[in-house]
Amino acid sequence: MTKYVFVTGGVVSSLGKGIAAASLAAILESRGLKVTLLKLDPYINVDPGTMSPFQHGEVFVTEDGAETDLDLGHYERFISTKMRKANNFTTGQIYESVIRKERRGEYLGKTVQVIPHITNEIQAFVERGAKSATSGEPDVAIVEIGGTVGDIESLPYLEAARQMSLRMGRNHCCFVHLTLVPFIHTAGELKTKPTQHSVQKLREIGILPHALLCRADRPIPDDERAKISMFSNVPNDAVISVWDVDSIYKIPQMLHDQGLDTIIVDELKLQAQPADLSMWTDLVERLENPSEEVTIGMVGKYVDLTESYKSLIEALKHASIHTGTKVNIEYIDSEVIEADGPAALAHLDAVLVPGGFGRRGTEGKIAAIRHARESLIPYLGICLGMQLAVIEFARDVAGLAGANSTEFDPDTQHPVVALITEWFDRDGKVEKRTESSDLGGTMRLGAQRCPVKPGTKAATIYGADVNERHRHRYEVNNRFVPQLEAGGMAISARTPTEDLPEMMELREDIHPWFVGVQFHPEFTSTPRDGHPLFKAYVEAARKYKTSRKQEALKQTTGA
Ligand code: GLN
Repeated sequence: MTKYVFVTGGVVSSLGKGIAAASLAAILESRGLKVTLLKLDPYINVDPGTMSPFQHGEVFVTEDGAETDLDLGHYERFISTKMRKANNFTTGQIYESVIRKERRGEYLGKTVQVIPHITNEIQAFVERGAKSATSGEPDVAIVEIGGTVGDIESLPYLEAARQMSLRMGRNHCCFVHLTLVPFIHTAGELKTKPTQHSVQKLREIGILPHALLCRADRPIPDDERAKISMFSNVPNDAVISVWDVDSIYKIPQMLHDQGLDTIIVDELKLQAQPADLSMWTDLVERLENPSEEVTIGMVGKYVDLTESYKSLIEALKHASIHTGTKVNIEYIDSEVIEADGPAALAHLDAVLVPGGFGRRGTEGKIAAIRHARESLIPYLGICLGMQLAVIEFARDVAGLAGANSTEFDPDTQHPVVALITEWFDRDGKVEKRTESSDLGGTMRLGAQRCPVKPGTKAATIYGADVNERHRHRYEVNNRFVPQLEAGGMAISARTPTEDLPEMMELREDIHPWFVGVQFHPEFTSTPRDGHPLFKAYVEAARKYKTSRKQEALKQTTGA
């Protein structure tokens, strides 16, 4: 039978509840338990797919094609269980489901209310989400409740959790509360009052936390911990200090050193072996002792470059761990390149154009890609980054003037990237290469397996096939592939049924490392293993840097 740990947050948001929940899960997994994680989002949007990335941060895509909260990305990076659609739900989904039942008459004429109908639905969704775990019925499901205690919209979730723990009985559910202990500079003191109040708020609802995770910019001294314990009625050893660290992968060890997992294991009476966090200490050690350093320029729209690329930044960090290379990421605003040319790219060891939507900044990205191609700088294009690489190559090498994506120029003469419904109706000459065109207009989401063409760079990196996740509408247009291939581009992977281009690369006699992928490899990268594509990319950046250094040396010595 699955037991539950509810993780709530107090005082302010953005304290890293997702990372804390995932780190606890990682420790429990290392103790031989089957663990899964769930994220409950108290907003009314049905999913975050339609929310501005600027407001919401990255949209994480699961293997089964759900657009979810970015915390699910953290979950997959910390534990081996794969997340599914059911691991994340929102108030919008709960209400949608309850209203549908009401319309069908399933409530038999009763008045439908927040308690019990919404709270029951939340409990049912929680249990369903826990059961959907890919690794079989989990021993523990860690349930992160979004928002902050005291928010009106979080209340039904807290109430549902309280009811669930009452219903399941002793030792089946426990509560972990994450709060802030701010350091007030003018007083030179850590302040415990916000934590006291936030726990009081939780107790008002009937929840007594079994452990407090107290976030601060520094370790919290014993005196303050004792004070928090006394005022919040949480045992002293369960008041855990979580201070700022430079790597999230240090958190499992920090929590374990203070006994968080033991508190949970004891409370839930779980049969667990001793923790073994050697994998985490090992990768932190590797992260901190690189043998080389490279600088990668990530070119994007200014507004997207902050929170929208969580998984990508982590994937580069994983590559850093597994190649012994410190990876510095420089964020480059594509509109600056559009205005000033590619001078800002001169010192880079590699260029990356990530996924994105909308026309703004695309010409700057294309200019950056041209610079990478002509200067033989390693290039990785992800999703939009692949589409733009194709557009750049079409314009400059394949002689397709004004080539574009119909996303940015619906009337382009050469729609080298287009919805698949648009591929064929422009000049009717090419016959339809796909039976199902219903992908057009809707988002292509989730993982899809496809074979890789032998003898390509893609095959060296991935082996025989790829199984990566998608989130896009437009596709490289097969109509133009012959012209592109004549210029030296290779389509190195295609989907098995629809024949859609999944990966492209430039022939090695043209460019040493130029790869574009229509999918998002960053979603499957983990710190444990890294990701073959990002590892290869960072290796290529290293090689490029070395060759450039040698070049410079040759010039100074006059050799
Ligand atoms: N805007 C492009 C499309 O919809 C690329 C999407 C992406 O990069 N995720 O196809």
